[in-house]
Amino acid sequence: MECIFCRIAAGQIGSDKVYEDDDIFAFRDITPKAPVHVLIIPKRHYASILETGEDDKIVCGMIAAASRIAGELGVDKDGFRIVVNTGRNGGQSVDHLHLHLLGGRAMGWPPG
Ligand code: AMP
Repeated sequence: MECIFCRIAAGQIGSDKVYEDDDIFAFRDITPKAPVHVLIIPKRHYASILETGEDDKIVCGMIAAASRIAGELGVDKDGFRIVVNTGRNGGQSVDHLHLHLLGGRAMGWPPG
């Protein structure tokens, strides 16, 4: 298995796990861009959001997990941001679908 996020989800590479269920794994970003910075990934490998289908339940599950984690980590009241970087212009650096959950500070807009 070459994909680093597949290996993290499989427990082959250590991570600071915050959530796991049958389909989803979530862990703290190794270079956090905010006081709370969690990555939510599907255990199944999708290279990006472009590989999920319209009826794919995984994206709903990932967003629901992000929302629940935001509550557990205490950033739900002041707000947070969910980001899905996609492709070169989107700034995606790991080719395994992931949501960034960012919170604990005010976010700028538009993003850089
Ligand atoms: P992106 O640039 O949107 O593809 O996001 C990839 C994210 O993965 C970056 O924010 C990295 O800091 C993070 N990252 C890469 N390797 C690891 C790792 N081993 N553990 C935790 N986060 C990682």
